[in-house]
Amino acid sequence: MLDTLIKNAVVIPMTEPGLVLHGCSIGVGDGKIAYIGSECPEAAEVIDARGHIVMPGLINAHAHTAMCVMRGYADDYPLKSWLYDKVFPVEARLDERAIVAGAVLGMAEMIRTGTVSFSDMYFCQPAVAKEVERAGMKANLCNAVLALGDNYDFDSDRAVKETRVLLPEYGNSGPIRTDIAIHAEYTSSPAVWQRVHEWAKEYGVITQIHLSETRTEHEEAKARHGMTPAAAFDKYGVFDTPVLAAHGVWLERSDMELLAARGVSVAHCPVSNLKLGSGMANISAMLRAGVNVCLGTDGVCSNNSLDLFEEIKLSALLAKGETLDPTAVSAYEALELATVNGARAQGRYDETGRIALGLDADLIMINTDSPHLCPVYDPISAVVYSARGSDVELTMVRGRTLMRDGALTTIDVESAMREVAEYAMPIVKGE
Ligand SMILES: [Zn+2]
Repeated sequence: MLDTLIKNAVVIPMTEPGLVLHGCSIGVGDGKIAYIGSECPEAAEVIDARGHIVMPGLINAHAHTAMCVMRGYADDYPLKSWLYDKVFPVEARLDERAIVAGAVLGMAEMIRTGTVSFSDMYFCQPAVAKEVERAGMKANLCNAVLALGDNYDFDSDRAVKETRVLLPEYGNSGPIRTDIAIHAEYTSSPAVWQRVHEWAKEYGVITQIHLSETRTEHEEAKARHGMTPAAAFDKYGVFDTPVLAAHGVWLERSDMELLAARGVSVAHCPVSNLKLGSGMANISAMLRAGVNVCLGTDGVCSNNSLDLFEEIKLSALLAKGETLDPTAVSAYEALELATVNGARAQGRYDETGRIALGLDADLIMINTDSPHLCPVYDPISAVVYSARGSDVELTMVRGRTLMRDGALTTIDVESAMREVAEYAMPIVKGE
């Protein structure tokens, strides 16, 4: 007998362009999708999804989740002073308890708005990993190596020490995984990249990087290396193993071809890039070049939310605006960014991102019984152009319900908010 049956649903399985299944049942057994069809096999729990759209849970491929403690703390600053005068001094003050508080609050927001898995680059990841386990989400966690200054010592770098703790415990499989990370081209040297890359080869894990986020970063790299940041990373072997690169706002055509050829995924972060005035990544050109483009929120200090529905809609709109072509990045393609492409970027293509037999039951149910979702001619278009994160009524990860009707089952939201307000906020403010 099945554990759960979701019946009478409109399903967007994300297995082929435009496919929508009406009057569909989805059966869940042992955390996997065990039935898809029009019948109603017996199940311990039956959920009637009439008036709801069921689709794969969303994947946030670039986040600094704990930065939730800095939501709204530094808005409307130029990027350099945002980073050096506001963010870095706060990060120097944040302790493990404050970071864990931010991560838990961020996960609560992600679960509420339909995200099931996230790629996260931040500090104190061994402690955060325990919270991810408790929350029941999936995550690819890393702490990025930032090798600034002449006295930099790889072995005493906090990020290196943490990565060495994480790698043997969380490898390249399972719901929680260790990724490794080079913060960016401009914050380290090829010698450091090669040491980090050794881990990728040894453990078979994904390397996360920031890539060509700002024009200054991109142009200075060309002056320094005589080539773009992407070409420099490739030259020193970083792209010999799977890489997930955030932003790619200033990528050139030759970079796009390189990333496609080397199988590098790009996490498009439109809200953050717009808010920090960094520019707009040309994802329709990337998709045409064959790059696996996925979506990220980036940190909440530059977003200021973790609701991926904003990124989904914006990614379609910006592509149309940039190319002056309303057919650029269709609604279905925008949904692919947030589901199947994100799964591929996380090394989870055979595990999540689609509703298909044998995959993990990582899915969400969207309530369409609202004025802003009425009428529904095309469920895919409704999700992309009209839905919001708050329309998600159920979030399931590996067959386990993490949220139903707005109530979280694994996180005490009130105490998570209180911990951020009472413990983390005074640290952020420097009180
Ligand atoms: Zn970032």
